[in-house]
Amino acid sequence: MTFLKADENILKSYAPFRGMMLINGEFRDSVTGARVDRIGPAHGIVVGNYPDGCAEDAEMAINAARTAFDKGPWPSFTAKERADLLIKIADGIAARTDEMAMIECLETGKPLAQARGEVSGCVDLWRYAASLARTLHGESYNSLGDGMLGVVVRQPVGVVSMITPWNFPIWILSQKLPFALAAGCTAVIKPSEFTSGTTLMLGEILQQVGLPKGVVNIVTGLGTNVGSPLVTHDSADMVSFTGSTRVGTHIAAEAGRKLKKVSLELGGKNPQIIFPDCDWEAAVDAVVFGVYFNAGECCNSGSRILVHKDIAERFVQDVVEKARQVAVGDPLHPDVKVGSIINDNQMAIIEGAIRSAREQGAEVLLGGTRVETVQGLFMPPTIVGNVKPEMMIAREEVFGPVLSVLTFEDKDQAINIANDTCYGLSAAVWSKDINICLEAARKINAGTVWVNTFLDGTPELPFGGFKQSGLGRELGKHAVEDYTEQKTIQLHIGERTSWWINNK
Ligand code: NAD
Repeated sequence: MTFLKADENILKSYAPFRGMMLINGEFRDSVTGARVDRIGPAHGIVVGNYPDGCAEDAEMAINAARTAFDKGPWPSFTAKERADLLIKIADGIAARTDEMAMIECLETGKPLAQARGEVSGCVDLWRYAASLARTLHGESYNSLGDGMLGVVVRQPVGVVSMITPWNFPIWILSQKLPFALAAGCTAVIKPSEFTSGTTLMLGEILQQVGLPKGVVNIVTGLGTNVGSPLVTHDSADMVSFTGSTRVGTHIAAEAGRKLKKVSLELGGKNPQIIFPDCDWEAAVDAVVFGVYFNAGECCNSGSRILVHKDIAERFVQDVVEKARQVAVGDPLHPDVKVGSIINDNQMAIIEGAIRSAREQGAEVLLGGTRVETVQGLFMPPTIVGNVKPEMMIAREEVFGPVLSVLTFEDKDQAINIANDTCYGLSAAVWSKDINICLEAARKINAGTVWVNTFLDGTPELPFGGFKQSGLGRELGKHAVEDYTEQKTIQLHIGERTSWWINNK
């Protein structure tokens, strides 16, 4: 394993980002005045400082979003006006890419180059949402007889509470917010307490472009203090959550008590199935990329591979060799591919999963022990072999740079193993035989199935999970519709036949 250190001077001139909440068009501290420092996981220094919000702050934010929705003007803006603002926001993000990437890198521990890619990708999400704002439309039915015209309109669902996790903070928010705004909704956002920086920077951009007050409100703080009221408050019409299946299930139950609309993007245990006729080099590369990208702290992480038994030994050897070359280290070093784990708790989960795999008879083929450094939480690329489908490491999300290797004898068995978890977020199949690829793509129960590739994405294609990986879809051409309600308007033409005549 190669461990890289970055130039120590880079951080000498870094001033921690001091963020403020955004409530009703004003930058605010919490009513309690409490603030918290974010200590960067890779460097052990304060990288950000944020208000430690409370339920009263959340209440003010929801009320502001409610008023902005009920009294306008945002929902009454034309689609063009909304789209124009979304494009300005996209430009605003583009202009602050370096600054946003830096705080994303320091707070998450992910490599700066990857953080930069994430922020640039967001610009495209906002632009795509702007295009959908202009094309959102309803339906008309001119086939209901001479006396009837049916019109189905879409109207914004109202106030949307958005709760986001720490692994791709600004990307995940950008999968939600611009589409909700395009629909004419207003929003209250609670970013993860570990990674609030880029969301608060976005708040500054929203103010600069002149988004009307109360349309977007941002409250920072803990899930129990701030997230919970956003879910249960009567004035929130919809909850859009990305995070763990554990918290997502709780949120769905809470929101369900008041029959709020809910959208959930949750965990995954995503298989890549490798057949003997695969493009070998490409498959090896995609396996390594798929599991070590973002240090495996990725809902879409390709955390298990199912390899045909005839090629398993050779294929796994090649994956081990390639994984050994993945550079680990300070996320500020330009060549680092695997940075720091987000926090001690996540490191303990990863180490626990590796320990449990060993206890259950699996064999660690690479890595498996944290890198001893003065600073930072580094787990090297880890590969666990001899994994059986019933083992915990084959079924549970690890959310770290840990690959499980399973083998199969035939296509049907591979598809069965692929489907044999509670998750269904994504999967990949590697073969030159189009029949095998199509059959697997059809039979695997996952929201995305990649064929001869992995982790490709584009805003045009919907994203979301089957089973306990979530509810609903983000992105794609229907992304704005998810933030609308349909309303039927039935128009009568001419004289209406009396009820008394019909029922005589
Ligand atoms: P998490 O579920 O612990 O927290 C997510 C958010 O929910 C945070 O903002 C947190 O403060 C908040 N929260 C916690 N308890 C809450 C409560 N009781 N009420 C309201 N809000 C509450 O997840 P995490 O650890 O931040 O992120 C990692 C998880 O997210 C992984 O399981 C991963 O698979 C999942 N994830 C899924 C996707 C996807 O799109 N499918 C994307 C990224 C991450």
